Amino acid sequence: MVIGAASCGVTDRLSIGSFRGWCKLMDEAKPIDDFETICVDDMRIGGPRKVLICGPCAVESEHQVEQTARFLSRLGIPIMRGGAFKPRTSPHSFQGLGREGLKLLVAAARKHGLLVVSEIMDPRDIDLFVEHVDILQIGSRNMQNSPLLREVGRCNKPVLLKRNFMSTIKELLLAAEYILQEGNRRVILCERGIRTFEPFTRNTLDLSCVALVKQLHYLPIIVDLSHSLGRTDIMLPMARAALACGCDGLMMEVHPEPAQALSDGQQSLSFQELEKLLVGIKPWLRFAEEN
Ligand code: PEP
Ligand code: MN
Repeated sequence: MVIGAASCGVTDRLSIGSFRGWCKLMDEAKPIDDFETICVDDMRIGGPRKVLICGPCAVESEHQVEQTARFLSRLGIPIMRGGAFKPRTSPHSFQGLGREGLKLLVAAARKHGLLVVSEIMDPRDIDLFVEHVDILQIGSRNMQNSPLLREVGRCNKPVLLKRNFMSTIKELLLAAEYILQEGNRRVILCERGIRTFEPFTRNTLDLSCVALVKQLHYLPIIVDLSHSLGRTDIMLPMARAALACGCDGLMMEVHPEPAQALSDGQQSLSFQELEKLLVGIKPWLRFAEEN
C-alpha cells in the first residue's frame, strides 16, 4: 500500500489526455498551466487580478441602476451586471424591461465608468447587445442552446457562459466549445450552483468545478455567489472558499433595497452588506492574487 502517491483519483479518472479527446478546441500546443487572460476594454480576466462583478438581478428603473452604478464605482467595482431580458421560471413573474432596460443599465454604467455584462436570450438581439454591452452573458437555462452559443461565438465580444444547474462539468466545457468553434476565444466560464437535494441553499455551489476547470482548461472561471446560494448570510465564507479554489472572480447581486427587488431580493446584498463583504474578503483576495 502506498500512502502519499502523487496521483490522485480525480486525475486518474479524468486525465488530461482523455479530456483533450473531447475538448478538441483546446489549443493542443498550449501547456496546461498557461492560462489565457481575456481583455475587456483595458482590464483582464483570468490573470492575477480577481474580477468583481456586481449589480441587480434585474434592471427595474433608472433610479435603481443609477444609485447602484454610483455605489459600485465608489467601491472600485469595475463591472456592473443587470438583466434586462430575464429568463424567469414562471411566465407570470417579472420578465425584465427588455431593450429599454438595457439602455438604462448601459447609460448608468457608462456615466460612472463601469463595464457592463447582461444576459442575451435570443439570437435575434445580437446586434443590440454587441452595440451596447461589454460582455454577453449566456444564462444557465441557455447553456445548451446551440444556436445562441453559435451566434455569440461569431461576435467580437467576450462571453460569460454560466453552467446550467443540471449540467456536468464536461457539458459546460462542451458548451464553451460551441463558442470557441465559431472563432470567439473570449469565453469566461461561471459556476453558479447545481441542483441537488439540499433545500437550505437555492443550489449547491460546486467548488470542485472551479478547481477542476483550473486544472483542465485555460479558460477563466468565476463564481456567482447569489444564484449558487440563494441567500446572503453565508456569502462571506463561500466567497473566501471560492477564492481559495482559484476562481478568477466573483459575481454578486446587489440592490439598493433588496426587500423591494422585483426578482431575487433574498439573494441580493444591500449596499452596506456589499461593503462589509468586500472588507471581509480583502485578505483572501490579496492572498489569491499573490499566489
Ligand atoms: C442571472 O445571472 O441573471 C441569472 C438569471 O442567473 P442564472 O442564469 O445562473 O440562473
Ligand atoms: Mn438573479
